[in-house]
Amino acid sequence: MFKKLNDGEKYSHGTVGNLADFDGKVFVKDELKETSCEISFGTLAPGQAVPFFHSHKANEENYIILSGRGAFQVDENVFPIGEGSVIRVATGCDRNIKNTSESDNLVYICIQAKQDSLEDCTMGDALITERESRL
Ligand code: ZN
Repeated sequence: MFKKLNDGEKYSHGTVGNLADFDGKVFVKDELKETSCEISFGTLAPGQAVPFFHSHKANEENYIILSGRGAFQVDENVFPIGEGSVIRVATGCDRNIKNTSESDNLVYICIQAKQDSLEDCTMGDALITERESRL
């Protein structure tokens, strides 16, 4: 389901392939040796929900909906989601996701990282460097 393609001293690269053909759930942290977050790809068939609610003790989760539509529940709150949705879920609450379509898979990415761990990002953490492009 996840194919490691190449890596070097400073990077790792893999793929789940064509998202239209992707099925199931795959976690990529161990494959890519990620140190700051866990990323998973997930699909839900029409009408399917994750078979359990769960919460997290230390990690915030960010769900990014890549295709399809569905519903998301956080504790007692339910709201519709669809392609392009991004849902942040804090620690200490129950969550679940359901595909409400009758015909299309729901495909999503979940990024799990320690809540309140992000200090600087984007240009606050970046340095513009002078390197000759080989692209
Ligand atoms: Zn989770």
